[in-house]
Amino acid sequence: MSRYWSPVVASLKPYVPGEQPRAPGLVKLNTNENPFPPSPRAIEAIRQAADAALRLYPDPSAEPLRAALAEELGVQPAQVFVGNGSDEVLAITFQALLRHDAPLLFPDVTYSFYPSFCALYGVPFEEVPVDAGWHLRVDDYHPSRRSGGAVIFANPNAPTGLLLPLGEVERLLGQDADRVVVVDEAYIDFGGESAVSLVDRYPNLLVVQTLSKSRSLAGLRVGFAVGDVGLIEALERVKNSFNSYPLDRLSIAGAVAAVEDRAYFERTRAAVIEGRVALTDALEGLGFEVVPSAANFVFARHPDHDSGEVAAALRRRNVLVRHFRAPRVERFLRITVGTEAQHLALLEALREVLAP
Ligand code: PMP
Repeated sequence: MSRYWSPVVASLKPYVPGEQPRAPGLVKLNTNENPFPPSPRAIEAIRQAADAALRLYPDPSAEPLRAALAEELGVQPAQVFVGNGSDEVLAITFQALLRHDAPLLFPDVTYSFYPSFCALYGVPFEEVPVDAGWHLRVDDYHPSRRSGGAVIFANPNAPTGLLLPLGEVERLLGQDADRVVVVDEAYIDFGGESAVSLVDRYPNLLVVQTLSKSRSLAGLRVGFAVGDVGLIEALERVKNSFNSYPLDRLSIAGAVAAVEDRAYFERTRAAVIEGRVALTDALEGLGFEVVPSAANFVFARHPDHDSGEVAAALRRRNVLVRHFRAPRVERFLRITVGTEAQHLALLEALREVLAP
């Protein structure tokens, strides 16, 4: 607290990211990073870009990346917006598209950054409860039941990993053509059908994705949005009133190469999906209940153990998982899918922790 703060600062509720430990040798399954390295082509492109041209500003709209993403996704470059991680793309979206008199609607169990953005940008919001099985019920968002200025949700959801089928996403979009619907697809490549296929038919749809998860590039900070040119123009207007160059030259070069290396992407995402199946089976073998996940993490609880205590005991054994002290989810652990070796270490530690 300081008397020099702008008035809004005291009322902010900053998001708390998972721990990024400095200590080597930890089994890090707490922030949903990809256990595999980025495409070697991406690393090489970043090396190549580290030259005298860094003297110059990058392309303000990262046009080469917009073009590569548009080609990959089958849309026009003018339908793509890129930013410094999808968190930045979301922040710009909150300001550009989600602030209205009527509240923004989102599920009560979802990405916990959304309320932080609302506090920062003065967006009124209303949380809509997911059902007992953690599912979003599309009917609860119908204008006849709730008047909302816009809707945002993560699909697959976080921290549950549950997927809302594309047909249900489309039903939500059709409920009210005057209302923007943002689908945060940070984890879609691990098991869902993207709503990008709907953007040409629904001018109220914005799909947000990231290279942090399925492209193993959390450290590069690249995210993007796809939607109608009218929505993208709103994001560009806010971006150009805030930071002309959110992506640097290295990020643009690395991201283009990663997007173009489709074979590597397919191989590593298949390995993560296989790992998720193996991790789910192993956890169920230890007595955990595991929510069916379409993401690169699982949401699990042991009926006989307190999740906060299990997380702390794992931490003492150098294994990091995520535990949220928040209503509804505090009985669960969120565990990122890792390599086979990381799973073995996790399971060995869990056997010790759960032993009577
Ligand atoms: N959306 C969801 C649902 C997430 O879990 C995350 C990762 N914390 C993000 C967006 C942001 O990811 P990034 O900024 O790395 O693109």
